[in-house]
Amino acid sequence: MAIVVQKYGGSSVATPEKIKNVAKWVIKKKLEGNDVVVVISAMGDTTDELIDLAKKITEHPDKRELDALLATGEMVSSALLAMAIKSLGYDAISMNAFQIELLTDGTYGKSLIEDINERAILDRLKEGKIVVVAGFQGITEDGDITTLGRGGSDTTAVAIAAKLKGECQIFTDVDGIYSVDPRIYREAKKIDEISYEEMLELSSLGAQVMHSRSVELAQKFNIPIYVALSCSDIKGTYIREVEIVEQKPITGIAVSDSDVAITLQNIEYDTNLLSDIFEAVASKKINVDMISQTAPIHNKVNLSFTIPKDDLRDCLDVIKPYYKKDEIIIDEDITKFSVVGLGMKTTSGVASRIFKLFKQNDIEVKMITTSEIRITCAIKQQDKMKAVGLVAKEFNL
Ligand code: ADP
Ligand code: ASP
Ligand code: MG
Repeated sequence: MAIVVQKYGGSSVATPEKIKNVAKWVIKKKLEGNDVVVVISAMGDTTDELIDLAKKITEHPDKRELDALLATGEMVSSALLAMAIKSLGYDAISMNAFQIELLTDGTYGKSLIEDINERAILDRLKEGKIVVVAGFQGITEDGDITTLGRGGSDTTAVAIAAKLKGECQIFTDVDGIYSVDPRIYREAKKIDEISYEEMLELSSLGAQVMHSRSVELAQKFNIPIYVALSCSDIKGTYIREVEIVEQKPITGIAVSDSDVAITLQNIEYDTNLLSDIFEAVASKKINVDMISQTAPIHNKVNLSFTIPKDDLRDCLDVIKPYYKKDEIIIDEDITKFSVVGLGMKTTSGVASRIFKLFKQNDIEVKMITTSEIRITCAIKQQDKMKAVGLVAKEFNL
């Protein structure tokens, strides 16, 4: 029997009615002759509410205890879905990270998955059960609970599909992947299929529709991901290896307000210092994205880089030895605006078209970074919608 791993996101299981509806669609898949594993997110805004609750106790909750708290969201939804399936007369079992032995590297709040005991799941499937797995959570070798980062249930689903060599379907509140988040640009177009490479860039640059680590895993194990609207037959989007026939220069736009730019002014022009600073940042597993440095004047430079806002406190702690108090500027008013497309490898002039549009429309670019298939600009948050509209129209997205 084919194994299908389906993942339902928070909005798809936000109410008991929605959970009962998901149960019907899961059963439908089972009745089509598949072994079904369902990965489930916490109901609705549960995770946000749990974070708010923790912040009512203390502004900076202990990371271990925060993970222990957040993991409860998926425990609730997985038990409820298994109950709903059973109440409709089909056998099901909820399983948490301990029960499937989903081992992580132990980083609280953004763990990487190291292994899963596939036998634990396969044995239940063999008994004819629909297995409902609590997404987003993992355990360490010492039995601590860790979580995979916001949106991490996608990664639970892909990791299980990879282990079980099954199909992977991600069901959410949008009917596929669009060229731009349809919530911020209503005329965005739906994409039938998108390459792993492009989706990985888009999701790591702010397209929250997929957890970026899930796309990375899917690419590594060559698992196609089907993304579609929950409880519907509307055709969605495949994320997979794509044959390039005729390629537009840009496939999509992603924006993110969740980064902060740190500038260290007038620091020594010294590669050792640079190396020490970024080593300190890396020691906290903080992802640095954009980096720029001014030309040296009297052997002094300004160094700027962006990191996720959530990591600001940790970052300031570890870089403290490398600057004086009046040398640092923290700019929270940035939007990372990115265009992504495999077509950029072979098309020239994309950057010039974008910068011309920005110039004509008074959009200030604070920092730039590029790869073969993306261009990212840090702009002011107030210019975000204008930039999205202009570039989407220019490139017919
Ligand atoms: P879930 O709770 O199902 O995991 P998410 O909220 O994480 O759902 O992801 C779905 C949301 O992702 C959509 O509602 C949409 O607004 C947003 N999104 C961002 N970028 C895109 C995109 N390029 N295509 C489709 N949806 C996108
Ligand atoms: N419940 C978690 C979150 O809200 C994980 C997920 O939904 O994928 O981030
Ligand atoms: Mg999500």
